[in-house]
Amino acid sequence: MMAGVVAALRALMAKVLRVFRIPSLLLYLRFRMATNNYFPLKNEAAIREYFMRQALEMGELALSIDEVPVGCVFVLENKVIAKGMNDTNRSLSGHRHAEFAGIESVLSKYPASIFKDVDLYVTVEPCIMCASALRQLEIRAVYFGCSNDRFGGCGGVLHVNLDAGIDPCYPAIGGIFREEAIMLLRRFYLQENDKAPNPIAKRNRILNTTVENMSIDNTRSYTLLEANQAEESKPSASTAV
Ligand SMILES: [Zn+2]
Repeated sequence: MMAGVVAALRALMAKVLRVFRIPSLLLYLRFRMATNNYFPLKNEAAIREYFMRQALEMGELALSIDEVPVGCVFVLENKVIAKGMNDTNRSLSGHRHAEFAGIESVLSKYPASIFKDVDLYVTVEPCIMCASALRQLEIRAVYFGCSNDRFGGCGGVLHVNLDAGIDPCYPAIGGIFREEAIMLLRRFYLQENDKAPNPIAKRNRILNTTVENMSIDNTRSYTLLEANQAEESKPSASTAV
């Protein structure tokens, strides 16, 4: 009897904690207390994790509707202005990656020139197509979870973000909640795809929880990020006089 009551109370507490998203709230409060300005940040790691957590939530949402679980958020002045998730299965359109959905959402509210002040947080390294689109839009910076070893445009296969070109380079820093991003993908590939013409039974497959080291080196992107930060923190011509 007593054990039943305790179990019921525990379940209720778990529900309350889930509803109010206490971990997210604590991170948010920590983030609010840290600073109101993006640069220089007192605790950049906490802020990056705060936004990447929201990108992961979008990835979870994608997983729940049988899309390849990639999620992203676009951040302007410490506020999420757009969210995106992979939408290729539902739309039957191969280019509806999370980044494109987010870009469309940003462009529905702001001019394209806004991207030079916008950062993208995405659970998986942008593919070559998205990395190129982001460069043409002059995104300020990209933060991603795990690398994309087959199609990555930010170091996984090509360095679209850093190679010589007409549009400005952008830093792309990988490895934020990398394990979580990888596990999301692995969970997806364990699911049975009932829509496939010949669904493959995957019930006996076991979730591999081993995560190898990341192959992408962030050094060049960090150098660029620091240079950009130094440039942004310089007083502008109008305020210097
Ligand atoms: Zn893409």
